[in-house]
Amino acid sequence: MEKFCVSIPKIELHAHLNGSLSRATLKDLGCLEEDVQIYNKSDIDLQTCFQLFSVAHKATSDVNSVKYVTKQVIKEFADDNVLYLELRTTPREEQNMTEEEYIEAVVDGITSHKSPIVVKLLLSLDRRRSIEEQRKTVKSIIKFKKLYPDIVKGIDLSGNPSFGEFYEDLFIEARYNGLFTAIHCAEIKNDIEAERILNFNPDRIGHGTFLHPESGGSQRLWQMNKMLQIPTEICLTSNVICRTTKSYKEHHIQAWIKDELPFSLCTDDKGVFNTSLSKEFFLAYQHLNLNREQLWKISRNSIDYSFASNREKQELRIKLKEWRQENMQ
Ligand code: 5GP
Repeated sequence: MEKFCVSIPKIELHAHLNGSLSRATLKDLGCLEEDVQIYNKSDIDLQTCFQLFSVAHKATSDVNSVKYVTKQVIKEFADDNVLYLELRTTPREEQNMTEEEYIEAVVDGITSHKSPIVVKLLLSLDRRRSIEEQRKTVKSIIKFKKLYPDIVKGIDLSGNPSFGEFYEDLFIEARYNGLFTAIHCAEIKNDIEAERILNFNPDRIGHGTFLHPESGGSQRLWQMNKMLQIPTEICLTSNVICRTTKSYKEHHIQAWIKDELPFSLCTDDKGVFNTSLSKEFFLAYQHLNLNREQLWKISRNSIDYSFASNREKQELRIKLKEWRQENMQ
């Protein structure tokens, strides 16, 4: 079954660029073994998790390293039989790089990679930043969406959920300018914010951990989620390692499966959590009793939830169908 999970063509919708750097890539960039080792934890908590990103951020503080890691991450996803990848990253200013130069370097990495995979970019707002800083970033995101409409597809809200807030106006502006919206929602218990995000009706939400009453949410939130049917990006390993979910068996995805709600399987931060999309599929088989047919459907349905163009979606559906005819009859 492990082989099946590797070979099935997959769709990745929730991957943070700097969380996805492999140890090999970090070492290439001169990171010390002891820094890379801190990624080897199998049980941390959500707060510690946010400290780990500083290793990758330090290693990617100029345009050359940003372009290099973008290409490396794309290659690693392609090698894992990911056909379509939505990478997301937070535009960041460093001593030798402006926020816009950072975005340009990521786009450069995307346009110059040589792997057999379709890649799109979502740009993230860090919720720790002030509304003024976030507004400035939104302006740049809209500018890059206009410059690279086939690549820059959406906007994300991420960063430590214990800080900051969801500024709806910024997302309204982004949506008005043609960007899709993917918002981390209910990663920690915060019913008021979760309701505000659901009311905004994003194109997708990330995690959705504390929505269902049995995983700490509420009937009201769950009813909204059921009514809205917003596709949810599920990150099994990330949630278990960060202990926002007790175990794979008790993962909140069970509620999505039971109520037949839309979701996709994703890696979140494959470097930090030492995972791959194939591993996430295998975990779903092992702990959630999903069979080959159900796993194939997760891949196929994820195409519908993606921000690809209609033509790209059609091509992906054909590839998945052909693979099924050759491998599952
Ligand atoms: P980057 O945006 O620098 O490419 O990727 C790392 C950043 O993604 C982190 O600093 C953090 O802001 C965000 N991130 C990565 N994983 C998570 C997650 O599980 N939850 C949230 N809310 N943000 C995350």
